[in-house]
Amino acid sequence: MRLSFEFFPPRTKKGEASLLASANALKAEGPEFFSVTYGAGGSTRDGTRETVSKLLTDVGVPAAPHLSIGNDNEEQIRTMLDDYKARGVNRIVALRGDVPSGAVAAPRHSSNAESLVKLIRAHSGDAFHIEVAAYPEVHPDAASAEADLDFFARKVDAGADSAITQYFFNPPAYFDFIERAAARGIGIPIVPGIMPITNFEGLVRFSKNCGADIPRWLGKRLESLKDDPEGLLAFGNDVTSKVCEALVQGGAPGIHFYTLNKTGPALEVWHRLRTTCAPQA
Ligand code: FAD
Repeated sequence: MRLSFEFFPPRTKKGEASLLASANALKAEGPEFFSVTYGAGGSTRDGTRETVSKLLTDVGVPAAPHLSIGNDNEEQIRTMLDDYKARGVNRIVALRGDVPSGAVAAPRHSSNAESLVKLIRAHSGDAFHIEVAAYPEVHPDAASAEADLDFFARKVDAGADSAITQYFFNPPAYFDFIERAAARGIGIPIVPGIMPITNFEGLVRFSKNCGADIPRWLGKRLESLKDDPEGLLAFGNDVTSKVCEALVQGGAPGIHFYTLNKTGPALEVWHRLRTTCAPQA
C-alpha cells in the first residue's frame, strides 16, 4: 500500500522548520515519498528545489519535485533535471501546470504534460520514476471524458510510470476512471489524491478552479459548520476517512495526501484507515 504526502515550499524560515518537523514525524508512517509542488509559472523554482533537498538530506525520505512545463523553456527544464539527478532525486511529478493568476494566459494547450514526459525521458532516460496527474472527475479543459482519457493515455505512452489523481469526494468517479483506463489497456498504478477538509471557503474556491465536485449534501453540511473550525475538522476527517476506506477496500493501490503543509488531518485519516483496512504501511 503506497503512501505519500504532498507539501508546498514554505515561504519563511519558521515555515521551513515547521515543515521539516512535520516531515520527520510523518517519516514514522513509512511514506514511499514526499512530493513538493511547483508554483504556477515556475514561481517557486528555488523553493521547490531547496525543500526537496532538505527533505532528502535532513529527513531522509525520497522527495519528488513537481515540475511543470508552464513558463520554463526546454533548456531550463534540462538544467533542472540534471540538478535534481545530481541531488539524488529519482522521482518527478510531471505536469503542464496552471497559469499564474494575473498572468497573460498563453494559449491553453501550447504546452502539455505529455511533452514534458517526453522531454524527461529523452534527456534523462530512466533516471526518474515519472508521476503524472489523472482526473477521475474530468479536467476542466477537457472537451469530454473520452478526450480527457485520451490525453491521459498519451502521457502513459510517453513514459509515465504511475499517476496521482486530482482530489475528489466521489469514490465511484475513481472506480469508473480506473475501469475505463483498464479498458484502454492502461496498466500503471493510479493513486487517489486525497484533500483533507480544513476550510470551507478555501475548499469551495479551489474546487471550482480545478473541477473537483463537492457533492451537494457535503457542501451544505460544511457550510453549516464553517464558523465552527473544530466541528468542521472533525466532520471533514470523518468524511475523508470514509472516502479513503471505500477506495482502499475497492482496490486503490495507495493514498497520496495533499497536506497543504498541515499534516494533522492527513495523519488522523491515515491512522483511522490503518485501523479499519489494516493496509501494509
Ligand atoms: P495535461 O495532462 O497536459 O492536460 C490537462 C488536460 O488538458 C487534459 O486532461 C486534457 O483534457 C487537456 N489537454 C491536454 N493537452 C491537450 C491538447 N493538446 N489539446 C486539447 N486538450 C488538451 N499545478 C501547478 O501549477 N503546480 C503543481 O505543483 C501542481 N501539482 C499537481 C499535482 C497533482 C497530483 C495534480 C492532479 C495536479 C497538480 N497541479 C499542479 C495542477 C495541474 O497543473 C493542472 O491541473 C493543470 O491544469 C493540468 O496539468 P496536467 O499535467 O494534468 O496537464
